[in-house]
Amino acid sequence: MSKKFETNAIRNQMERSQNLEHSTPLHLTSSFVFEDAEDMRASFAEEKERNIYSRFTNPNTTEFVDKVAQMEGAEAGVAFATGMGAVFATFATFLNAGDHIVSARALFGSTHTLFTKYLPKWQITTSYFPSDDLSLIEGLIKPNTKCIYVESPTNPGVDILDLEAIGKIAKQHKLLFIVDNCFATPYLQQPIQYGADLVIHSATKLMDGQGRVLGGITVGSKQLVRELFLFARNTGASLSPFNAWILSKSLETLAVRIDRHCKNAHVIAEKLEACQEINWVKYPFLKSHPQYALAKKQMLKGGNIIAFELKGGIDAGRNFINAIELCSLSSNLGDSRTIITHPASTTHSKLSEEDRLAVGITDGMIRLSVGLEHHEDIWNDLKNALSKIV
Ligand SMILES: *Cc1c(COP(=O)(O)O)cnc(C)c1O
Repeated sequence: MSKKFETNAIRNQMERSQNLEHSTPLHLTSSFVFEDAEDMRASFAEEKERNIYSRFTNPNTTEFVDKVAQMEGAEAGVAFATGMGAVFATFATFLNAGDHIVSARALFGSTHTLFTKYLPKWQITTSYFPSDDLSLIEGLIKPNTKCIYVESPTNPGVDILDLEAIGKIAKQHKLLFIVDNCFATPYLQQPIQYGADLVIHSATKLMDGQGRVLGGITVGSKQLVRELFLFARNTGASLSPFNAWILSKSLETLAVRIDRHCKNAHVIAEKLEACQEINWVKYPFLKSHPQYALAKKQMLKGGNIIAFELKGGIDAGRNFINAIELCSLSSNLGDSRTIITHPASTTHSKLSEEDRLAVGITDGMIRLSVGLEHHEDIWNDLKNALSKIV
């Protein structure tokens, strides 16, 4: 009988060794041995599935990959050292020189740098559409367009993209539909259901959830993942077995952690919305979110990221951040600790002001990654800092 998400997250694990360990052991080994000449030949000829070298596969990375693939409803996946390792390898595998990407404008900072600075080295260009007007997508598609790329919810503006609608456009034009599902996690949203071909994660964020290790993964069909795997094993951005071991254990608690993240974030978002010092608050499951109905349709809960704008602009932003006592000032997100970021001066400082404003990053905008502390303590810290911004 098929089992529920939480059960699979805990019970999908590698076969036990002769030690009958209960919890998965860590396989810290760079390579694996062969039994004889025939075993060696057959292994290299890929006549059997087995571990050869940990840059290719390792039992811990395989366990992590299988778990995430199952959570996303994908056939297979490849793990990477970081989320950006996964993003770059995915484009490098499936795009050729001269290809074209159609992408949502709101992007993770380093992905934006990849599109604007590095992919152009291979004459790969990108055209952008705004999150709230998908009617512009078809006009951007050219004969050399290879894929449509989106993140939803977006970083840091927390916009929601209609994955089903974009999936249909991609299919109609025979384009790869690639989704960075980092902010939602497979617990809240499974893009493959809506037509995504490849789903990417920075496992560094909510998958680890405790700010310890870096990791990335891309999942999809067996056929696509095979190509990606061959690229990955020859180019080297492989996930370390130790990080895979941590991440696989973290996934056992993904559902309970995300439930609490979402509950805390919802409470905090409602309280922020009632504050005079704030112009607007964006959280997918607040009725005031412009895409509230869409968020409700494609996500199980609202996630843990809140964006809001302080009325006093850049000075208010700095004063607010300086008055924070409990929450962490960090550029990371998806940690058990609540994290506050000022995107305009940190993660998105490389964008021009025009590009920043186009994705809603104003000077007074604050991004909050709500953690697992008690929500009353998080709120007391925010409330105290808000009282000190003028
Ligand atoms: C953090 C992040 C990445 C990059 O992941 P790293 O593990 O830091 O390399 C990619 N996409 C999104 C949406 C992210 O938040």
